[in-house]
Amino acid sequence: MNGSCLRERVCYSTAGPLRPVIASHCTQCRKSSSHFAAANSTARTSLTITGEVLWYQSSLRARRGFCKNCSSQMFWDGLGNNLSIFLGCFEAPIGLTLSGHTFCAEKGDYYEFANSLLQAEANNPDLTGHSIANQGSDNAFHNCH
Ligand SMILES: [Zn+2]
Repeated sequence: MNGSCLRERVCYSTAGPLRPVIASHCTQCRKSSSHFAAANSTARTSLTITGEVLWYQSSLRARRGFCKNCSSQMFWDGLGNNLSIFLGCFEAPIGLTLSGHTFCAEKGDYYEFANSLLQAEANNPDLTGHSIANQGSDNAFHNCH
């Protein structure tokens, strides 16, 4: 699958399996995306990125990747084996379906959930594939803190 920023100066392609899509409602995703962030992830070795990505260190153990030119938020990197990819930059049709919500305890108070998908208060290994205890060694999950 392929994706790009607004101006197609940063482009990427994935060559391997993708984790199911989850929506993160954590404060950082809300503030950096202006709502919530939908992301999947793939092995770092399966992702090819071209163009100049500006990495913002958003916490001690994670950074967020933006296009340096147009500021599209494209990646979340927990510095493990996987890299999370924000869904908005994939070229349509994506053909993927949202599988659940994480960090619901931090969601904005201006909206309610309109579907019956699993809603986890924080990280949920059933959605992300990884427990919090594994966060130092792998980042296939989307843990925003
Ligand atoms: Zn751009």
